[in-house]
Amino acid sequence: MPAMSFVTHLESTADATSLPARTLQTLHGGKPLLVRYDLDAVRKVMAKDTLRLRAPTLWRYRELLPLERDENLVTLGEGLTPLLPCPRLGAALGCSRLLIKDEGQLPTGSFKARGMALAVSLAKELGVTRVAIPSAGNAGGALAAYAARAGIECFAFVPEDTPVVNVSECVLHGAKTFLVDGLIGDCAKIVREGAQRFSWFDMSTLKEPYRIEGKKTMGLELAEQCLWRLPDAIFYPTGGGTGLIGMGKAWDELQALGWIEPGRRPRMYSCQAEGCAPIVRAFEQGLDASPAIDAPSTSASGLRVPKALGDFLVLREVRASKGRAIAGREQRIGHWMSLCARLEGIALCPESAICLDALEQALARGDVKRDDEVVVFNTGAAQKYVEVIRTTPPRLSWRDVDWGIVERAAG
Ligand SMILES: *Cc1c(COP(=O)(O)O)cnc(C)c1O
Repeated sequence: MPAMSFVTHLESTADATSLPARTLQTLHGGKPLLVRYDLDAVRKVMAKDTLRLRAPTLWRYRELLPLERDENLVTLGEGLTPLLPCPRLGAALGCSRLLIKDEGQLPTGSFKARGMALAVSLAKELGVTRVAIPSAGNAGGALAAYAARAGIECFAFVPEDTPVVNVSECVLHGAKTFLVDGLIGDCAKIVREGAQRFSWFDMSTLKEPYRIEGKKTMGLELAEQCLWRLPDAIFYPTGGGTGLIGMGKAWDELQALGWIEPGRRPRMYSCQAEGCAPIVRAFEQGLDASPAIDAPSTSASGLRVPKALGDFLVLREVRASKGRAIAGREQRIGHWMSLCARLEGIALCPESAICLDALEQALARGDVKRDDEVVVFNTGAAQKYVEVIRTTPPRLSWRDVDWGIVERAAG
């Protein structure tokens, strides 16, 4: 591997201003930055046929990632998650070619690991010694773990109603963790205001350019797993939107490399919970940016984002791909989680249960055909959501076993 990167510059999504890459950057004109590469040079040194010889982590796409020096690479072995055919769940839904890409198997149990592997590696490379993040779900724990791996000090500010596992994993990995009596926006304000006083680097969603590059590897990986012929439709749960933006960026770069056909991009379905669906509202009203949701409410904590910084990028990708933004029903989350777990053995996070509800709606409307190839992303492991999955099975005494209880449970 060369000790160099193919990055040319960072590009502002506000006005395409070009900014230097080898220095710490946040937003420009209040909008996120995208990493740009010399793809002609990449094409000369990287061949898609030799990829399979590389280690099964996201670092196999090294030339399409921004890191300069291998010694700064911070890894927990992330990437290459399985793409699992789901015939029984598909039959229940009326969708004959359904696949789930199981990101719940990543370090820290969610796809946030991809973004943080890149963001923390680059933070290390650029000399950051202290990071901070507002988080209402999986991002905090993922940052805490990668920061620990890198020997970087981490501060996490989490709303009081954050799922207990997410709070505990921050503490477990040694992040200085604070329970805030407000919403995610209030936590973000603390991170912003403390930046001067504590000189920490703000790792909030889209406020630094590298988490998208990590999420981009979902798209690269999916393309490689599908033998460079992408599926018809992708259902993806949208909170901050980095996953959708990252995958769109992956298709752009693969097209520029000539590795995928331009005319065959998947329709992107952005799925949100009805209790917090700013992108869906904007999509339906034909707006370029979303309104802010006042009182977001859903058990899918990763989707509790009242207004995403990159909303306009998500909307652009969804529309350009001829997809849709769809709101899933909160009261169906338990149904889809248990159906998928029982029929396929895959423990979906509530965010991805919302995707199945959206898929059911899209099938009913005819947006998605029965024989379309559909990929649903499971962005996290159900096991992290004890508040959602907790149940009490029937009790049994071992001293005097009541076999009637067991018999009633038998199939
Ligand atoms: C953060 C998160 C999301 C939303 O991700 P974005 O790509 O930022 O929209 C979805 N699901 C889970 C489990 C998450 O942790």
